[in-house]
Amino acid sequence: MKVLVVNCGSSSIKYQVVDMTDESVLAVGLVDRVGIPGTTLKHEPIGKDEVLIKKDMPDHTAGMKLVLEVLINEEYGVLKSMDEIGAAGHRVVHGGEGFAESVIITDEVKKVIKDCFDIAPLHNPPNLMGIEACQELMSNIPHVAVFDTAFHQTMGPANYMYALPYEVYEKYRVRRYGFHGTSHFYVSHRAAEMLGKPFEECKIITLHLGNGASMAAVKGGKVVDTSMGFTPLEGLVMGTRSGDIDPAIVFFLMEKLGMDASEANSYFNKKSGMLGLSGVSNDLRDVLEAAASGNERAQIALDVYYNKLKGYIGNYMAKLNGCDCLVFTAGVGENAIDIRENVCADLDYLGIKMDVAKNKVRGKEVDVATEDSKVRIFIIPTNEELVIARDTYNLAK
Ligand code: AMP
Repeated sequence: MKVLVVNCGSSSIKYQVVDMTDESVLAVGLVDRVGIPGTTLKHEPIGKDEVLIKKDMPDHTAGMKLVLEVLINEEYGVLKSMDEIGAAGHRVVHGGEGFAESVIITDEVKKVIKDCFDIAPLHNPPNLMGIEACQELMSNIPHVAVFDTAFHQTMGPANYMYALPYEVYEKYRVRRYGFHGTSHFYVSHRAAEMLGKPFEECKIITLHLGNGASMAAVKGGKVVDTSMGFTPLEGLVMGTRSGDIDPAIVFFLMEKLGMDASEANSYFNKKSGMLGLSGVSNDLRDVLEAAASGNERAQIALDVYYNKLKGYIGNYMAKLNGCDCLVFTAGVGENAIDIRENVCADLDYLGIKMDVAKNKVRGKEVDVATEDSKVRIFIIPTNEELVIARDTYNLAK
């Protein structure tokens, strides 16, 4: 069976076609600027030349229609007909408390996705739009929802409750959910394989460090804790998000800067983090370069970034009572040699010792701990699309 993996943002559609007989990827692509003048479709059939199509697409249905046409195109397509697609898997950011696993999409599932609009206003509406567009165009195949929050639903109340009046949890579902769950799921399972132990017997700390960043502590096959919370704003220092701060700063700055709630939301989500602190960029490559050429603010931003990560490692080591391995993944985790080295420096008391020579790699699955390190340090490129394809295949077959 071939599976179509779809990830819809507010103005984008990312897709992959995966052949489940050997899990090989046949094509990847991106439709950008959906609903905005200047729509482009970048299609990469594996083993053939990349194709760029410029054609305005008023909505996700039109965008998806173009994707399907491209997939069966004689010249650069990868399918003879759409009948070869046996199922479609959709990334959905928020499943609320309803789903700890992926599910076949029914009207009831769509209702839950819709019910989460108010707690995931930027993500769930376009996710649902993508699902409905695909269902309209491919009504004869099963469609599966794979939730970013699902893996974290294994967390217990000790870690998902905030110390707020209980009724805001009951009334408004204010609690910690966690995100990047599909990535934490993939790399923690791969880590168990690399450790040569059953997943259920492992204690793993995963560091998904990209433009958005989160960590998870995994024990006995379950998430014990994760750094993102009610929204992806909580936790680590990110490209443009502040991560953990004293919540009183929000009220203070709303007053001082004359911001309303939506402006404050944008301030802490889009103008803070590495961008706000360094004044250089949200991209860590630029911040590292600036710091290396003497930019003091860039160096402070990096020090805050490392400090926060070390703090969470310590926190999770305490919650797990030690761990078998750390796992670095996503754009920064897979590629940023200096960042990994600085995060792991001076943690030998916790049994974490990095071999800095082995660490000089990018984007490879490898153990970079010293022989005598009690804790293994893995770099594992994440593969959320493969998890979506596998779950979709397993449910559809
Ligand atoms: P992601 O969100 O997972 O796609 O990660 C994107 C981020 O990875 C970029 O914003 C960069 O900050 C970071 N990144 C990618 N490559 C490197 C690198 N070689 N060194 C430092 N940061 C990197």
